[in-house]
Amino acid sequence: MGAGCQPAPIREWYGATGLWYWLLAMSRPHRLPALLSLFGLSAWPSLATCATPPAGPEPTLAVGIFSRERINACAITSQGSITLQDQQGRQVAVLPARAVLEASVEGSRVAVSCAEPAGGGHAQRYVLSSPQRLEVRLAGQKPRAYRGRLLLSACARGLLLVTQVGLEDYLRGVLPSEIPSSFPPEALKAQAIAARTYAIRTAGRHAAEGYDLCDSSHCQVYLGASEEDPRTDAAVRDTAGVIITYQGRPIDAVYHDCCGGRTGGNETAWKSSDPLPYLRPVSDRDGETPLCGRSPRSVWTRQVPQARLAAALAQFGVTAPITAIEPATRDENGRPRDYHIRGAQGEVTLLAGVLRGAVNAMLGPGTLPSADFIAAPNGDSIVFAGRGSGHGVGLCQWGANALAQSGRTAPEILAHYYTGVTIGPTSPEITGRLTGRRMG
Ligand SMILES: [Zn+2]
Ligand SMILES: [Zn+2]
Repeated sequence: MGAGCQPAPIREWYGATGLWYWLLAMSRPHRLPALLSLFGLSAWPSLATCATPPAGPEPTLAVGIFSRERINACAITSQGSITLQDQQGRQVAVLPARAVLEASVEGSRVAVSCAEPAGGGHAQRYVLSSPQRLEVRLAGQKPRAYRGRLLLSACARGLLLVTQVGLEDYLRGVLPSEIPSSFPPEALKAQAIAARTYAIRTAGRHAAEGYDLCDSSHCQVYLGASEEDPRTDAAVRDTAGVIITYQGRPIDAVYHDCCGGRTGGNETAWKSSDPLPYLRPVSDRDGETPLCGRSPRSVWTRQVPQARLAAALAQFGVTAPITAIEPATRDENGRPRDYHIRGAQGEVTLLAGVLRGAVNAMLGPGTLPSADFIAAPNGDSIVFAGRGSGHGVGLCQWGANALAQSGRTAPEILAHYYTGVTIGPTSPEITGRLTGRRMG
């Protein structure tokens, strides 16, 4: 490379405050678009059929990314320029396209550096924005791209990465991880409306950690823009702003893979949850055939060694060998609400979801695919024969697939799984509690 190709001189380390400037980048004409990239400007996509744009600014979420990782450092790049602001909102640098910014934690501050053009600094927080997607790379992991702004700060676990992303762009990243993109459009639209409702209702559960939602299955899986698919994009676009409400409030729109022919009430899946009027048991059948019968997880069997099962249930005072696991009560469709468990010593009655949760937490998430099963001792093991996968409450995705194939619309599908609900546009009063726009 000749000298003429070298980057222009860079001034580094401006004073002790950590301010820094890339003079070359600052003088470039594309600086303005970089500033205008403060996200949300992607705005509401073109609207179709049942979608009505809510008035007011686009709802924006703060999503903690790589939230299950302990991060000490990452690299960030973009096909567009990257603008950096510090915690006071001052613009401290503009990096040219394809420059790589390295970020790490230094005590309670974030240190950033770039090799070409050379520069660096540190601050309590940096806010990164770009007219193009920001690509985040962690050592040993596949890079992920994000449409929103990126906030970097230090937390007890290391580097905290939060993306501020418009609700609709967020959903474009969520759907491909939460439902097969090959499902029919009306099933994908039902899923988009459920995921939008769930995000609005749940936002803020991670407020103590500095964001609205995490990016794991604890909230909804969100792997960024790299996962987007034209089919799920269309489902988000065609339902823009539409949510599910009950008595004017967004519902807890839980959903799952496959119910096996009957969904459960929320109070049987989670401890200490009062029965919600819209999360009632639903028969998910066409005659004798489960609507979700085509799912590869519609029926299943598992053999669990006595010693391992007893280890998982020891916390409830039950010891090996387990002599019986029998439904104690069932709902109107026959789905067990709770199970009575008898051991060599001790017996206990557990909610169906609590039993499954305890076993899966100790023995692995797939040990009991669902909480709807029969169980019988067999030598040194207990054999479970069950149906469905997931918690079994609310929207059944494989059932939605079958309903869409038989010509049902997204609102009809949602009305089947969520009892007595209304489907319609959201409002600024409902989305105003999302914190994304207020951050940074
Ligand atoms: Zn979460
Ligand atoms: Zn089902």
